[in-house]
Amino acid sequence: MSSLIEFAQTAENIAATSKRTIKALILGDYFNNLADEDLITSARFFAGYIFPLRDQRTVNIGGAALLTAITTIANIEKSKYQERLVKLGDPGDVVFEVLSNNLKSKQLPSTLTLHHLFSKLEQLAALFGTKSKTSLVTELLRLATPLEAKYIVKLLAGDLRIGLKEGAVEDALARLFKVPVAKVQWVNMLTGDIGETAILARHQRLEQAKMRLFHPIKFMLASPADDLTEVTKQMPQGFAVEDKYDGIRTQVHIGGGKGEDSLHGTIINDCRVALFSRTLDEITWTFRDLIEPLAQLISDDTDNGLILDGEIIPIRGAKILPFQELQKRLGRKQVKQELIEEVPVAFIAYDILYANNRVLIDEPLKERRTILDSLRLDTEKIKRGLHKQFDDISGLDAEFTAARARGNEGLMVKDLNSTYKPGRRGKEWLKIKRAIATLDVVITAAEVGTGKRARFLSDYTFAVRTSETEPTLLNIGKAYSGLTDAEVTEISNWCRAHTIQELEHGRVCIVEPKLVLEVTFDRVQPSSRHNSGFALRFPRILRIRTDKPVAEIDTLETVQSLAETEDLPSCT
Ligand code: AMP
Repeated sequence: MSSLIEFAQTAENIAATSKRTIKALILGDYFNNLADEDLITSARFFAGYIFPLRDQRTVNIGGAALLTAITTIANIEKSKYQERLVKLGDPGDVVFEVLSNNLKSKQLPSTLTLHHLFSKLEQLAALFGTKSKTSLVTELLRLATPLEAKYIVKLLAGDLRIGLKEGAVEDALARLFKVPVAKVQWVNMLTGDIGETAILARHQRLEQAKMRLFHPIKFMLASPADDLTEVTKQMPQGFAVEDKYDGIRTQVHIGGGKGEDSLHGTIINDCRVALFSRTLDEITWTFRDLIEPLAQLISDDTDNGLILDGEIIPIRGAKILPFQELQKRLGRKQVKQELIEEVPVAFIAYDILYANNRVLIDEPLKERRTILDSLRLDTEKIKRGLHKQFDDISGLDAEFTAARARGNEGLMVKDLNSTYKPGRRGKEWLKIKRAIATLDVVITAAEVGTGKRARFLSDYTFAVRTSETEPTLLNIGKAYSGLTDAEVTEISNWCRAHTIQELEHGRVCIVEPKLVLEVTFDRVQPSSRHNSGFALRFPRILRIRTDKPVAEIDTLETVQSLAETEDLPSCT
């Protein structure tokens, strides 16, 4: 049985090099010496998961519980922990530092194995309540050396932060077992489990992999079109034009039979249905009014399951409601029946990834659409997205106006010959949105407001990412207007629960950078007020984007290009 310390040392070696090939070689060497069971566990761990994607279990441990566990073990004040967390930015690095200064932890022998850790994490997932979860983590950390604790905490926080993504694990497996990397990626997508993929690769059985439903497949994303000439340039052979619905991107899995207990989804009439958000989280229960209508889609011809890609939108009768209505149903633990009735929703399908026992992502859009059109998607709750095929852009202005009149955000233009590329933002899907400039940003700090908002954290500092490849956050602005009182209360409570450091006696809170906002503004200007070197003039919050992960917010490059379009004096 392989030790946890060996896993941790391998992770340290991987973190120490920036070269992708060397990372893959180190990982390959490590995997090579492991027994099958440890290969499964460590492949998942290195890909950033604890359980396979199709497994609905989560350890579900928050920053506050980690803080209690770590400060108890290290015997330090919470304020000291918070101060170091702001400095180091990663709870794993903090626990390593504080335990390295703790004589007892420093002298502990390494006794933990990967197997032991995994079974503790399974127990943790089965526990309810912060108190019992915190005590299990405390007991686990008590047995760990500083380096082991560092990686336990990183796994619990959901990111090893060693510059290694799931793709690098796929690379390492392909190199080690001398199989094509595309095959490993394909099997990982089919099974939703990098651990199972590793075993199939080791035993040269990748060909035997079968599609498993009920794990989210990464979503294909769109790029903004600068103007309509870009459409002509990218898709000279013709394209599809669809309405851009303003809702929550959702992937629907529907399958017959019961399957394993730990699978995602809900069973109804012998059929399992699961909904996944763009962040790959399960949201079936938030939209439980869609479960039965979706289950009814399984008919004789689609008996073997379906995966649909689309959007959940708020809609009453034929009238599409504003996105803000849908917001009321998001981010809640419980969605009450009254709310379900107050905000009716429908699922609009615009793509299909699996049907009739066939994985369709390598088929061109034209073919996928024909299959989608053959399904009965025309009920009150389940609809097909509008889709027209065009040869040139002359009709696009009229389509845009019509889409806006229907209550939608704009248009999506898609290359009819394009395959579905999971997780990729390419030029094969172009989005044409409203004319005003917006940025997707993440809240990094919140400040108490004034007047009737004096009891709330209602003034938000927010940041963009440095670039597509560099996730460091850079503050760009601060806004307080645009939200309803109910939204301010909700964000304020969220910020209190996710504070990592309090300043000025709690008047200002540095928060975990997780909550995404869409903001608009009059202009972008150079400024030394924020570390991005830019500031927004008259920023207003358009909406909270709980559906968007931080990894997809805008970057400094976008901000720079918005600033370049304006030749204005600085507002420092
Ligand atoms: P954005 O959120 O601005 O990056 O725009 C991309 C999003 O548009 C997707 O993730 C979907 O949620 C949404 N969307 C709405 N309608 C469509 C459509 N017809 N095809 C693809 N994406 C759509």
